[in-house]
Amino acid sequence: MDAIATEASQVRLLEERAKQRDLERRPTPAEAEAAVRTLIRWAGDDPAREGLLDTPARVVRSYAEFFSGYSEDPNEILSRTFEEVEGYDDWIMLRDIRLESHCEHHMLPIIGVAHIAYIPKGRVVGISKLARVVEVFAKRLQTQETLTAQIASAIQDGLQAVGVAVLIEARHECMTTRGVHKPDVDMITSRMTGAFKSDPRLEERFLNMLRKR
Ligand SMILES: [Zn+2]
Repeated sequence: MDAIATEASQVRLLEERAKQRDLERRPTPAEAEAAVRTLIRWAGDDPAREGLLDTPARVVRSYAEFFSGYSEDPNEILSRTFEEVEGYDDWIMLRDIRLESHCEHHMLPIIGVAHIAYIPKGRVVGISKLARVVEVFAKRLQTQETLTAQIASAIQDGLQAVGVAVLIEARHECMTTRGVHKPDVDMITSRMTGAFKSDPRLEERFLNMLRKR
């Protein structure tokens, strides 16, 4: 009886492991292309029609670009800092960083801009790196709230900054081209950490810099 019970639990364990491996395994491009052909058929068209023949391969290549952020590490991007800034200890701000992401609910584009300010603690990072951090998180399936929080945390932790402010203004195509069909609506999210959170004057100054555009 015990032997049978043990055997059954071993089988279950092996099944669970196989399932886990299947979840972890990245589909091949051919498998991803087959999925696109299914979606074309679901839309009501014929994937074998001439104009659509190369579409699955193009879609799969586009996905590799849209979602390239999964294979990148923001900590690595922020690891190359420099100190020779003549004791500069005021904030550094980047305004209107173009943002292209995809919502995790509909996989439709989120297009907008991100604004970032941080107060360094001795070490600063090249400004293009901040834009790269935005890109790493944007090129994943996202909600705007999560995206905003992830960018702020990565800069806060990566640079051990005195404070970080992130504000994102974006349009969600799942709102403009489907569902409620409301174009021209901007969603605004913000996340303040450290000094930007504890000192309302800093937050105010940050928001003022954005109004002055
Ligand atoms: Zn959506």
